[in-house]
Amino acid sequence: MYNIMNGTMRLAAVLVAIALSASSLGGQQPAKPPADQLPPLSYVCPMAGDEDVIEDKPGVCRKCGMELKPTRLDSVWTCATRPLLVVESKPGKCPVDGTALVQVTAAVSWTCTDQPSIEQLEPGTCPNGAATVKRYAARAHGNHNPQHGGQFFMAPDNCHHVEGAYLSTGVFRLYLYDDFTKPLPLDQVRAVAARIVTKQTFDTSTKTTKELAAAALVRNGRFLEARIGKLGLPAQMTAKVSFKKGGPEHVFDFAFEGFSKEPPAGTRLTTAAPTPPPAAEPRPSASAPTSSEGGGTIEIAPAMENALIPVPIPETVPEIMAQLRTRTDQIRTFIDRGSFASIYVPAFQAKDLALALDARKDTIPVDKRKIAQPAIAQLVRSAYLLDAFGDLGNKQQIVDAFSVFAAAVKDIQASFPEK
Ligand SMILES: [Zn+2]
Ligand SMILES: [Zn+2]
Repeated sequence: MYNIMNGTMRLAAVLVAIALSASSLGGQQPAKPPADQLPPLSYVCPMAGDEDVIEDKPGVCRKCGMELKPTRLDSVWTCATRPLLVVESKPGKCPVDGTALVQVTAAVSWTCTDQPSIEQLEPGTCPNGAATVKRYAARAHGNHNPQHGGQFFMAPDNCHHVEGAYLSTGVFRLYLYDDFTKPLPLDQVRAVAARIVTKQTFDTSTKTTKELAAAALVRNGRFLEARIGKLGLPAQMTAKVSFKKGGPEHVFDFAFEGFSKEPPAGTRLTTAAPTPPPAAEPRPSASAPTSSEGGGTIEIAPAMENALIPVPIPETVPEIMAQLRTRTDQIRTFIDRGSFASIYVPAFQAKDLALALDARKDTIPVDKRKIAQPAIAQLVRSAYLLDAFGDLGNKQQIVDAFSVFAAAVKDIQASFPEK
C-alpha cells in the first residue's frame, strides 16, 4: 500500500512540479511572459472554510472580515492519484500510471529553487540572478477527484472529503481526506467511527430510519473497510461517519454502477517519463464481468456524459462562442438535475474558453472590449465559485453563482461576433 502524501513526498511533488515547469520553458521562451498571459489576480480569504470568497478587488472577507489575500488561481490537469505531481495545461494521460489526467484548482506563484520561502505573484528574478520558477500549490476544495477509482463526496463540515470504493471482492472501502484532499493523518483516522448500511427502511409515520443490514467500517492502515459481500449492481449503500468521538454523524449515499477499480500502481516518474502505451493498462479482471468501464466514478445520465469530456479550444471566435454556449447549457442542466459535483467540469471549460477569447480581444472594437474584459474576469471568478459551491452542494449558492456566470456570458456574446 503506497502512502503518497507524507511530507517528504509532498515536498518531492512540489519540487518535481517546479522542475517540470522550469524545463517546459525550454530556454528559448522569454523568462517573463506578458502579464495578460497570467491567470487573473483574485482576492481570496485565508480563513479555512471561506474558499468560496473570491473577489476581484482587495478588501476584507464578507464572511469573517479578514483581509483578503491576492492570488492567481488556475485550473490545471494533473494525475488523480498524485495531485500536482505533474501539471499540464490540457487533458492527457498521467505519465506515472497512465490514467486520464483530472482537473484541479491550484494557486500559482513564482519562487526560487534555492529559497522556496520566496513567493511572488509574477515571474521575475531571484536574488542570485536566476529566473524564478512557477509553483503550483493545492487549494482547499480545489480537488474533487477520487484517487482510488471510487466515488467522492465532501462532508457537510466543510473540512473533510470521503471516497467510497466497492471492490469486486465484495469489500467496501472508505478513504478519508482533509479539505485539501490529502489523506487524513493517521491520528485523525483513528478517531473516525463509521459503518456502512446496505439495507434500511424509512418509517414515514415515525420519521425514523431502521437499519436492516449494516457493518462496522474497521480501520485498515489509512482507510476503513468492511466486507459486505456482492450486492446486485447497481449497488446502493450509505456510509454513516463521525469524524471524531461524539461528533455529528454525516451520511454519504453511494450508488455504484460497477465495481471500483484501483488505478494501476504506476512507475516512478523519471525526467524523461514516457507516457505508457494504452496497452500497458491492466484490463478488468474476468471475475467481474458486470463491472462497467471506469467503475462508475461519476454518476451521470449517458446524455450528459459529453459535458464531462474535455475538448480542445477551437481556433475561431465563432467556434469558441458556440462551445461557450454549449458549456453554459450543460451547467444549467447539471444544476436542474442536481448533479452539483459535476458542474466544475463545464465551468472550468467555459473559463478556458473565456480566457481564449481574452487572448483575442484585440480583434474586436474598443467599445466592445470595454464590455468584454470585465465580463471575462467575472466569468472566470464565477467559474471558480461554481466549482466551490458545486462541492458544497448548496443549490441556492450555485444558482446565484450561475446567474453571475450567465450574465457574463451574455455580455461576452454581445461583444464577440458569433458568425
Ligand atoms: Zn473569511
Ligand atoms: Zn471540497
